[in-house]
Amino acid sequence: MRAIVYGPPCSGKTTISLTLCRLFPSLERLSFHAMCEAEARRGTAVGRLWRHCDQSGIPLPRVLPNILFARSWSAPASFVVDGYPKRLPEARFFVSMCGAPTHLFILHCDRGLVEARLRARWECPKCRASTSDKKAQCPVCGGPTIRRQDDSVLRWRKRFEQYLAYAQPAIEFLKTAAPFVWQGPSSALVAWLGDNAKGFEATLNKRS
Ligand SMILES: [Zn+2]
Repeated sequence: MRAIVYGPPCSGKTTISLTLCRLFPSLERLSFHAMCEAEARRGTAVGRLWRHCDQSGIPLPRVLPNILFARSWSAPASFVVDGYPKRLPEARFFVSMCGAPTHLFILHCDRGLVEARLRARWECPKCRASTSDKKAQCPVCGGPTIRRQDDSVLRWRKRFEQYLAYAQPAIEFLKTAAPFVWQGPSSALVAWLGDNAKGFEATLNKRS
């Protein structure tokens, strides 16, 4: 199985890839964000460039996501990837390096709901980790949390606008490549996977 979880920021990509790995333990989870974090921690040139762009809100140079993904790619037999590929050139590169995806999950998200959820969260001003409980300490550094600032919502809105600008061509390309496509909100997908795990497993064996 070569599964891609595609969707705008805050649409539940992590939840879906974790759910898939829980249902199918042979799947390896590839989180693009975790790959980039690891590269940045190693202090490599591309890792530093990624960190710089991420922290300053600068869009990543066009070729950087492909380089970051290729450096971490270890050709697992069965995997689910989230956060990559995003743009059409990345989707094309993904297919040339990893083969066509067998499963494509396209998550939809309700803008109003995401904004409300973001505004209701508390976050650590130091490491930006967030929690829904105002009494909780930062889950990363243990420091105090503050009401999430508006700039979080603004940052999210900017990333969402970027998503709308690049997503359609990439989705069209990936849809023609993947024999199995599921589209909908992540909550519906979690429920669907719960009800259809057995039948879904049959499609895995047939197509992986
Ligand atoms: Zn913290």
